[in-house]
Amino acid sequence: KAKNAEQPEFIQAVTEVLQSLEPVIEAHPEYEQAALLERIVEPERVIMFRVPWVDDNGKVQVNRGFRVQFNSAIGPYKGGLRLHPSVNLGIIKFLGFEQIFKNSLTTLPMGGGKGGCDFDPKGKSDMEVMRFCQSFMTELFRHIGADTDVPAGDIGTGAREIGYMFGQYKKIKNVFEGVLTGKGLTFGGSLARTEATGYGLVYLVEEHLKCTGGSFEGKTVCISGSGNVAIYATQKAQQLGAKVVTVSDSTGWVHDPAGIDVELLKQVKEVERARLTEYAARREGVEYHEGRGVWQIPCDIALPCATQNEVHLEDVQNLVANGCQILAEGANMPTTLEATEYLQNNGVVFFPGKAANAGGVATSGLEMSQNSERLSWTFEEVDAKLNGIMVSIYHAIDDAAKRYGHAGNYVMGANIAGFEKVATAMMAQGIV
Ligand code: NDP
Repeated sequence: KAKNAEQPEFIQAVTEVLQSLEPVIEAHPEYEQAALLERIVEPERVIMFRVPWVDDNGKVQVNRGFRVQFNSAIGPYKGGLRLHPSVNLGIIKFLGFEQIFKNSLTTLPMGGGKGGCDFDPKGKSDMEVMRFCQSFMTELFRHIGADTDVPAGDIGTGAREIGYMFGQYKKIKNVFEGVLTGKGLTFGGSLARTEATGYGLVYLVEEHLKCTGGSFEGKTVCISGSGNVAIYATQKAQQLGAKVVTVSDSTGWVHDPAGIDVELLKQVKEVERARLTEYAARREGVEYHEGRGVWQIPCDIALPCATQNEVHLEDVQNLVANGCQILAEGANMPTTLEATEYLQNNGVVFFPGKAANAGGVATSGLEMSQNSERLSWTFEEVDAKLNGIMVSIYHAIDDAAKRYGHAGNYVMGANIAGFEKVATAMMAQGIV
């Protein structure tokens, strides 16, 4: 903790994982001998770099870029690039650490990594974003590659940014390879990648509902965020018969009792890149509120899809009081530790992000396979594989929790199931 004192999110993520792993470590004394935990919490490599670029007024701007190559025991490093003013080393380390276990859960051969920059794409022109992306890649290119490290999108990094970064990588390296995922469909992107995280989140919850005799039909769902994950979670939940009544952004939130109009939401957020006030202005019967407040609306299922630590203790107290039965994390670590404990102690089924939002990286793994084969699969093929992976993740985490005597504790289940494969691979590869 002392070494990472300035990194509260990283300490929070590690604390949760290490608590879950106590029974596994007890059962495997050889892990202690090999300092496996000490090694797994230390990134294999951290890269921090200057990103200078010129804005539209001719002024030079300087941002700080990061790539944390956390663990390559089971495959090349894989994880997104976050572009947001809040980005710092601790945030990227927390995300990279989580990514190790998430990638392992997908059953695909991918190690854990994460990167990003404190650049804010909001309010920047296309040309500014392009110049930034080119500068960012002008350093990053030497550290990545299709068999080394394959970055992807995350908050602030969508198809536009990935396109600019890919173009610059290709220009510098003179190699056309699957070095980034989330690419456009005309240059190696995978169908269904855009939908994957949101759809996967809903597929995982659907499998749980099926196994416990229920379904999404007729359920009320609250969602936070209105970005990539939130939009497609909303779409899939509604396709399965649920009604999604909220979405939010960093300035406010919408309550739409008739059910979110996904087409309008996509138009406002994806096409116009506008705020939710626009959504509210164009639709009857919708309330818009400044600030936060999604979790005070009664629902059966809560799907936080915005950012880390957005669901606090008072939020889950509201959710429990209003009869919410399931909370599944679409975002990475949106629920604080105390809120997670409160949910688990009050009978709410809780699915942590590293299992529930693994559909995105799983589909990125499928994009890598297609690039290596130089083939592209149909939407239906990718969607069916995604569904199969989410079903298998549900059973893997359910089974791991049961094996260690904690049936229904999916935090433990996800941490244990994700850890087992990585630990076995690290032991086999010696002290490296
Ligand atoms: P987007 O950038 O598309 O959307 C993020 C959404 O969250 C926006 O509505 C944004 O609002 C809101 N948001 C961001 N920061 C804050 C904040 N500090 N307070 C309140 N709201 C905020 O990102 P994604 O949908 O891709 O990602 C959302 C989450 O899901 C992240 O935690 C990400 O790491 C995780 N994730 C994403 C995957 C993917 O495939 N996209 C895969 C796995 C996890 P605003 O527009 O106002 O900024």
